[in-house]
Amino acid sequence: MINAPPHTLADRLEQLQERITRACQRAGRDRKEVTLVGVSKTFPAEAVSEAFEAGLRDFGENKVQELVAKASLRPGERNGGHCRWHMIGHLQRNKAKEVIAHADLFHALDSLRLAKELDKRAAQQGRMLPCLVQVNVSNEDTKFGLLPRQVGGLLDQLAPFKNLKVLGLMTLASPSDNPERVRPEFQQLRRLLEDEDKQGRSHVFLRHLSMGMSGDFEVAIEEGATLIRVGSLLFGARS
Ligand SMILES: *Cc1c(COP(=O)(O)O)cnc(C)c1O
Repeated sequence: MINAPPHTLADRLEQLQERITRACQRAGRDRKEVTLVGVSKTFPAEAVSEAFEAGLRDFGENKVQELVAKASLRPGERNGGHCRWHMIGHLQRNKAKEVIAHADLFHALDSLRLAKELDKRAAQQGRMLPCLVQVNVSNEDTKFGLLPRQVGGLLDQLAPFKNLKVLGLMTLASPSDNPERVRPEFQQLRRLLEDEDKQGRSHVFLRHLSMGMSGDFEVAIEEGATLIRVGSLLFGARS
């Protein structure tokens, strides 16, 4: 097995960081523009601590319960620092409260009803919740997210919500063994961000593109990703 992955999480993180740096170089981008979010879903809190010790600072979860369980342990502070939590999965309105309390960035805003609930809960907790709007650029009907043509309408409607801060867009690309095949989806998300940014809405700050996972993060970086969400390549295969 010549191509076996490195055994320790620290080694895998180092390899991943090198690939991110090289992708940034190819694209003529500053490495600091890209944040690696390690997707720790299904892995125990110990894996988060281990990754923190190896230098990772951003962690992503797709289920509220798991996010709360791991974030509550404050792995960063126990290791003498601070880490940021990203809620990257679909959210039901009845769990909005917990996301406000524990997430530093919510990647999956996809409806006005959810925005209303999050804003209300954030106001109650005296917090400002940074969010990304999830867009379905691959047109798979099994997936969450707004269609590209619906995004502008939602952004318009977010103006009254003073406790939400919309910072950009997120997408899940089509599953594919060949990352080149999803490049057009990443390009589409970037164009959408640029177009919506030109609308001059003063209540949104469209700067971030959350796109790219284990199989396609390099192409995503080449197309402008500022947040990449990498799970299996870092933590291992999920059962
Ligand atoms: C699981 C997950 C990821 C990470 O996927 P990998 O292929 O394991 O890197 C990224 N984004 C979302 C929304 C996920 O649910």
